[in-house]
Amino acid sequence: MELTQIFGSNVFNDKVMKKMLPKQIYSSLKETIERDAPLRPDIADIVANAMKDWAIAKGATHYTHWFQPLTGITAEKHDSFISPSEDGGIIMEFSSKQLIQGEPDASSFPSGGLRATFEARGYTAWDCTSPAFLKEDDNGNVTLTIPTAFYSYNGEALDKKTPLLRSMKAVSRHALRVLKALGNNTSTKVVSTAGPEQEYFLVDKKYFMERIDLMFAGRTIFGAPAPKGQELEDQYFGAIKDRVSDYMHDLDIELWKMGITSKTKHNEVAPAQFELATIFTTTNIATDHNQLVMETMQKVAFRHNLVCLLHEKPYAGINGSGKHNNWSLLTNDGINLLEPGNTPSENLQFLIFLSALIAAVDRHADILRATCASAGNDYRLGANEAPPAIISIFMGEELTEILEKISKGEKISSKDAQYVRVGVDTLPVIPRDNTDRNRTSPFAFTGNKFEYRMVGSAQSIAGPNVALNTIAAEALDEIATRLENADNKNTEAQAIIKEIYKKHGRIIFNGNNYSGEWIKEAEKRGLPNVKNSVDALKAFSTDKALKLFEKHDIFTHKELHSRYEIYVEHYSKQVNIEALAAIDMVKKQFIPAALEYATFLADSVMSFNAVSLTPTVQENLLKKINILMTSSYKNLSRLESTLAKTQGINDVVKKAETYRDEVVAVVQLLRKDIDSLESIVPRDMWPVPTYTDLLFKL
Ligand code: ADP
Ligand code: MG
Repeated sequence: MELTQIFGSNVFNDKVMKKMLPKQIYSSLKETIERDAPLRPDIADIVANAMKDWAIAKGATHYTHWFQPLTGITAEKHDSFISPSEDGGIIMEFSSKQLIQGEPDASSFPSGGLRATFEARGYTAWDCTSPAFLKEDDNGNVTLTIPTAFYSYNGEALDKKTPLLRSMKAVSRHALRVLKALGNNTSTKVVSTAGPEQEYFLVDKKYFMERIDLMFAGRTIFGAPAPKGQELEDQYFGAIKDRVSDYMHDLDIELWKMGITSKTKHNEVAPAQFELATIFTTTNIATDHNQLVMETMQKVAFRHNLVCLLHEKPYAGINGSGKHNNWSLLTNDGINLLEPGNTPSENLQFLIFLSALIAAVDRHADILRATCASAGNDYRLGANEAPPAIISIFMGEELTEILEKISKGEKISSKDAQYVRVGVDTLPVIPRDNTDRNRTSPFAFTGNKFEYRMVGSAQSIAGPNVALNTIAAEALDEIATRLENADNKNTEAQAIIKEIYKKHGRIIFNGNNYSGEWIKEAEKRGLPNVKNSVDALKAFSTDKALKLFEKHDIFTHKELHSRYEIYVEHYSKQVNIEALAAIDMVKKQFIPAALEYATFLADSVMSFNAVSLTPTVQENLLKKINILMTSSYKNLSRLESTLAKTQGINDVVKKAETYRDEVVAVVQLLRKDIDSLESIVPRDMWPVPTYTDLLFKL
């Protein structure tokens, strides 16, 4: 099959709808999808029927309401289309009710107290703005998969999609007000767009299966470094090995079938690390698709006797994985609101939207940081790795200079031919291409979009995009109100740009974000530097956050608070699993292996003595091993008692803090001992695959 035929072949997309739905029904549905018009109940039956016929023709036997609970992964429960018929047989049925609403037993999903167990009902509701598609498994089973929002009996959001849809609505509303005030009367909707770049590692399945830490924690809790790391920089953009290339090809096909625009693939910096980027789309669809990308990456890897690791830091000593969330605002008539224009008025509009983001990010840097908090991401943010935990915006020298001059009321002149000159008096020239890419910035303006680089590789991008949409909505709301009330919109717009730069310009930093000076400088500027998840998550419990999310109808107080607790609890659970995996490995694998070698050495000492040879080497090694074994045994006991104490703490936050300060610290001590042992014990006596096996035998 040709690629153009493969792409979207498993999607109930516009083309299919146009073909299968009566014209009037089709336009009514489009109205709902594109203009948020309410879904007409009479059309839902016809749509459901068409969907069913299409899916069955393609081999589907089941349908599922697919949703995104707060576990961070997706959930699905399959129902077959069958319904008993009067003659004792079956008919294939799928009603509008089954399309529009589902009622999964939701009692086992995290709800943070939003749903008492006696009222376990949760509902799923069809999100028609993200197309339904077919999921195929390796054995050819096909399921009609319907993207849905998941909420409680009282209408409280229990998932990641509901707030995302709410935030898209808020940002559209206020962006439109700003556009209107600036004289744009043609756009009728603004969508936020995202194009995530997904990093991941591949490891041979047989090695993975021999490591309890990889299986349960997704990362190596132990492991001495291999002789070679990433220092030769020979992996980044290097030629892709056939085995990996085969995998990537299969992955692409699976993604393309589901209408996911897998575009770029390449080797990443660390050995056995790779990246896949999709072409941007609405933040809602991008989130759905990114979840499917992660799921499909893992599924296809298994087929190739590989395992895909999405953890932020699978290996110590080499780069971890992140997700770059490229974000912008797009009108329904195709204007990218973060794209500099060709005319003075377009550039004024651009500078207004740019300023809105500057104000938003400076005000709510803590919230953005919180959306990237996870136990795994703690090994990137705030550890000795990129990006740092301090949020700042990279704007590029040219653009910063323009803002600087506007703020001082200075005239802007064109100095450089690469700029498009539009300057009438006080209106600036805007650099057309922002080639000066600063790879160290956590939040970089890259010419026509912002690239948010703090997101963890395993995380859903829903949270970060909810935050971006909401904080942008708030800033645009304020700007819109000012413009609407001003007599001279141009003068007011320029005053706004000026004021925002003066007040929030501190968030702009174009230098090296990895340097020690920046940490000091950021502190001087009063920018927060929150180095761990438990502290970062506290940003969800402030009055400022509550005011922001309530005002724009994203979260109620209860919803926000329940999320805060769920995420803090999740952190504790994660660290608890890691500690248990560590205990298991040390007890059942590492200490026995060290003992075996020690016994071998002790025997050898006796044999040497028997033939009157001096066993210097053996004695030396034996002493070293004995010291390390003693130390690891002591740290093992310490970990067991610390863990028992921590598990007994009732207060959710206190508990997470103790996991962070005590449990993580003891696991690290234990690692030191074990990694030292690994470097002494012979390879064939070491009970688990080493970094050399995991990273270089792909
Ligand atoms: P890189 O950052 O690696 O140089 P690109 O600049 O090509 O790569 O783009 C990276 C990602 O940014 C892609 O997923 C692309 O679709 C996305 N992107 C481009 N324009 C936009 C936009 N207006 N809104 C959101 N994402 C965008
Ligand atoms: Mg990028």
